[in-house]
Amino acid sequence: MSDLTRLTVWDDPAIYGALSWYLAVAENQRPAKFRIAATVATKLDPATSSEGALWVELDRLTPIFLARWEAIRAGQRLPPAAEGPSLLELCRELAYRMLGHCNFCPWDCRVDRALGARFGACKLAAGSRVSSHFHHTGEELFYRGSEGSGTIFFTSCNMRCAFCQNGDISTDKDNGEETDPRTLAAMAWTLRREGCHNINWVGGEVVIHLHAIVDAIALLGRDYTPTQAELARARKTKADRFLWYDEVPDAALYDEAFNAPMLWNSNFFMTLESMRILRILTDVWLPDFKFGPGRCATTLAKTPWYWETVTRNIELLDEWGEDFSIRHLVMPNHIECCTYPVLEWIAERVPAAPVNVMAQFHPDNFCDPASAKYRDKYAEIARRPTHAELEDSWRRARELGLKFETATFERRNTFGISAMLKI
Ligand code: SF4
Repeated sequence: MSDLTRLTVWDDPAIYGALSWYLAVAENQRPAKFRIAATVATKLDPATSSEGALWVELDRLTPIFLARWEAIRAGQRLPPAAEGPSLLELCRELAYRMLGHCNFCPWDCRVDRALGARFGACKLAAGSRVSSHFHHTGEELFYRGSEGSGTIFFTSCNMRCAFCQNGDISTDKDNGEETDPRTLAAMAWTLRREGCHNINWVGGEVVIHLHAIVDAIALLGRDYTPTQAELARARKTKADRFLWYDEVPDAALYDEAFNAPMLWNSNFFMTLESMRILRILTDVWLPDFKFGPGRCATTLAKTPWYWETVTRNIELLDEWGEDFSIRHLVMPNHIECCTYPVLEWIAERVPAAPVNVMAQFHPDNFCDPASAKYRDKYAEIARRPTHAELEDSWRRARELGLKFETATFERRNTFGISAMLKI
């Protein structure tokens, strides 16, 4: 039993009930979904088939995949990987086809990012940049555990939150290092062998890098071993490279092949097509649900269609029986218009989801009065939330019966990780 399993946080039935698949994969008791996808063969040649045919094939194979996932959840062993192309390669090919008329997110820019002559709202061509990757010890306890969450932090975003607390990373498309799928796979491979409990794909926003991430996951599902050159390239962005982590290959194996839960840590502003691909590859989802149904997403983040997109995507997770937890950031002066409607929607539509009602908002980017970037129009959120605003938010969550206390308050235990482990 690893330290992750020994965390007392799993004694909360709301946490265990919502995240039991993730925990089983993190502990290598079950294969990650990308490993299952590699066992589902396709007769199509992904490279030569039309995009329409590929989507039809995804629809045909998804129920087969889900039945296999269900059987494996129930204890069946993983069948051998397909010798020819599989659902994994199908997902990879679909992501690249989408890149050619980009519709990863609801901006639906329809630009050919592979060509790179015109740019969409995220301003990206086909290249992806990583700002850093590291053992993240700041995520929720069930993700960071004792060894950290294996975080790969991409640059650029498809939203424009005026208060973004990673403004340099999300708005500067040239930040970080240019990467490629093999280097991404090397990052994930190393982090997992160093003991990270999951691979945490995050940004900026991650869906705008869908093709590169799906490609990296497809590599990991097919006997990938990085070369020394790939490891050296990956190491350039390893923020904790000066700390010593023992590599334990067995920590990353199920049935002698690479295994790790894939965590999709996202603003959830993505299309149904992206969701359909990610359903095959994601073991646990972490939607960030910030804005209410009014105009706040437009005025504070220049993002139309926010509410309908994010609620549709979170409802799908519930309908699909996926493991997920939700984050909601309490913003000053946005309790009535954002926090209450978000919490009420969760209570009505996905009441079993663990929720982290977060207090750490601080004025940053265009909302920081101490910054040259500050804009008066954001004065209403140019401060931290008050004690009363936070208490009101938590009181409402309590009244609604949300499963939020464990995820929100675990840091109040000041005695460190050892106090949160079962003897
Ligand atoms: S990822 Fe979104 S914002 Fe970027 S080009 Fe594609 S549709 Fe547009």
